[in-house]
Amino acid sequence: MGVVENLNNVRKHLPASVTLVAVSKTKPDGMILEAYQAGQRDFGENKVQDLAAKKERLPGDIRWHMIGHLQSNKVKYIAPFVHMIHGVDSLKLLGVINTEAQKHHRVIDCLLQVRIAEEETKFGLTRDEAFDMVRSDHFMGMTHVRLRGVMGMATYTENREQIRAEFQRLNRIFDELKASVFARENHFDQRSYGMSGDYLLAVEEGSSMVRIGSLIFGLRNY
Ligand SMILES: *Cc1c(COP(=O)(O)O)cnc(C)c1O
Repeated sequence: MGVVENLNNVRKHLPASVTLVAVSKTKPDGMILEAYQAGQRDFGENKVQDLAAKKERLPGDIRWHMIGHLQSNKVKYIAPFVHMIHGVDSLKLLGVINTEAQKHHRVIDCLLQVRIAEEETKFGLTRDEAFDMVRSDHFMGMTHVRLRGVMGMATYTENREQIRAEFQRLNRIFDELKASVFARENHFDQRSYGMSGDYLLAVEEGSSMVRIGSLIFGLRNY
């Protein structure tokens, strides 16, 4: 099936309140344009270089999401235009994003990446690390980043109940943050979880933003 058919299939399953980020990493401009012409505007990439290059070549109204692990020294390449940074996993990184955003007179929307998977390999903050971060004086002084919520990746497994439990853990951490530190901030409203293999479960559990690649663009060969 083609990109547009795949895209429409995914859309059928998403409530209007859920944002679809089409993950176009490793995929050519032509495929991105097919999705664009079908109305898709949010795209995600996980490498700074690819993100910056595609931004240059593709339509200006695309909202580019940085979904991968981000190194502090590379923030400057995406700060002028990035729509949202999903993978914030340290105070240092957030500080650099704040500094770079300020240079461009922007406020950059960010999500805290929380570790919910049992796998050791996944990046992300523990619940306590997330709280320490947002309660720090350093964070309180940052005027050019806006935390919009949390992001997580479940374990890559066939075990649906495990995935569900991990999404629920992320929901609880979101709720706790929302009820305390962000109680008066209406813009703290995003839960980014769910990928090709688990997005239906994610929607059931209340995801507000799914990041879907292979189901739309086909499998990636690295
Ligand atoms: C690649 C990637 C996705 C999309 O993965 P698919 O399984 O192809 O849908 C989602 N989120 C992140 C962080 C990714 O790196």
